[in-house]
Amino acid sequence: MNNFQNTFEYIQKQIDKKTLNLVDLCEVYLSRIKKNSDLNIFVEVFEKEALSKAKEIQNKIIAKKAGSLAGLFVGLKDNISYKDHLVSASSKILQGYVSPYNSKVVKSLLDKDAIIIGRLNCDEFAMGSSNENSYYGPVKNPINTNKVPGGSSGGAAAAVAKGLCTVSLGSDTGGSIRQPASFCGVIGFKPTYGKVSRHGLISYASSFDQIGPISNTVYDTAIIMNYISGKDTKDSTTSNKINKDHILGFKKKNKKYKILFSNDFLAYDGIDLEIKEKFLEFISNLKNNGHSIKEINFKHLNYVLPIYYILTTAEASSNLSRYDGVKYGHRFSQSKDIEDVFIKSRSFGFGEEVKRRIMLGTFVLSQEYYEAYYTKAQKARRMILNDYNNILKDADFLLTPTTPNTAFNLKELQDPIKMYSQDIFTVTANLVGAPALSMPVFKHSNNMPFGLQIMAKSFDDHKVLDFSYYLEKKYKSQ
Ligand code: GLN
Repeated sequence: MNNFQNTFEYIQKQIDKKTLNLVDLCEVYLSRIKKNSDLNIFVEVFEKEALSKAKEIQNKIIAKKAGSLAGLFVGLKDNISYKDHLVSASSKILQGYVSPYNSKVVKSLLDKDAIIIGRLNCDEFAMGSSNENSYYGPVKNPINTNKVPGGSSGGAAAAVAKGLCTVSLGSDTGGSIRQPASFCGVIGFKPTYGKVSRHGLISYASSFDQIGPISNTVYDTAIIMNYISGKDTKDSTTSNKINKDHILGFKKKNKKYKILFSNDFLAYDGIDLEIKEKFLEFISNLKNNGHSIKEINFKHLNYVLPIYYILTTAEASSNLSRYDGVKYGHRFSQSKDIEDVFIKSRSFGFGEEVKRRIMLGTFVLSQEYYEAYYTKAQKARRMILNDYNNILKDADFLLTPTTPNTAFNLKELQDPIKMYSQDIFTVTANLVGAPALSMPVFKHSNNMPFGLQIMAKSFDDHKVLDFSYYLEKKYKSQ
């Protein structure tokens, strides 16, 4: 069964027809993981445990007692907690730390008999756009191993692209699900802020972070959303807005949408001209198919990155202050006193990029500069939110390319500012809390994929999925 179609939709059908055994499926995934170990996608594989779970759940299937996610093999980004398992945010400072509890998303999946197959490599504390900031070393892009898979959920996107698990869960603070999905040719979805509980996610910037799925089909994304979204008393920022069924809308045919795009995105300096061209072609194709298309101004684009990096580094410097060498993970052993424990554990435990951000965040929060940077950026964030809501008032979606370029070479981007610019098209959704999905509909002449980004109003997640489903049936290039 080595060449099966790697989607939960397919696996479910085979289970129903009794033509698939979970132990066989588990073995296929495990052997593929081994065969591709040079890509450095997994930082740990729960081999024995996954196999014994597969046996147990296969028996439940036979007894007709299995949960609705039986057959789903999930890879977890290494910043999502799984009880009694190591979790490190791919950082040295969390080496040896075992989570004493399950994150809400993991609990929801396990309750329905999904199997967690391993931990996936990522940028340290989810800071990065290439997966090169990991303590475990970089992940290679499975489509072209000279290239990065994107970041920070690089392992999560590469694992699904290479068929090493059915779906994965990543986290997205400024694009970390969508950008790697775009680079690896898979679907990456950042839900509305507050739709999915962050309980058990190792925080980077709490007012931006969202957990979301990476998958090969829109159906799989929607199924996962049905189980992981909803109010959670352990995360007070989750919303109790009615949790719509994310699959319900798929059946409705011939829907015509009101679609926006903006030349302000396409005029971005660093955009690859072929990406621009193919995107515009796609837009005119949608128009020919009866959708209403309108061009709008998005005049704040030049400000989104500075605002994002001021606010996220501020939140990160505060969130990461808990790693002091005392409570979790790595402690510098030859310290002479307690202060030395703090200083040395942090100096040797954090990587360069994380340290850069802690310093920047501490600076913008310092008494002298707080008003000038932090407060100002908060106000600017609000302006962008108002503008975004206004733009989308009478429309369904705002479309952009997900990324200004396709996957770049390993070690190619050394300048941090250039690396930050990778997120130019994705951070807006996090600044305003809106849902955004990267759909793999494009292929560049350099043979690398790139995604279409679909953004919508907050809590229109189901609409984004309906539209993506329609696009998948009509255009998916892969
Ligand atoms: N690349 C962005 C950053 O480094 C986004 C990261 C993320 O979404 N976790 O902040």
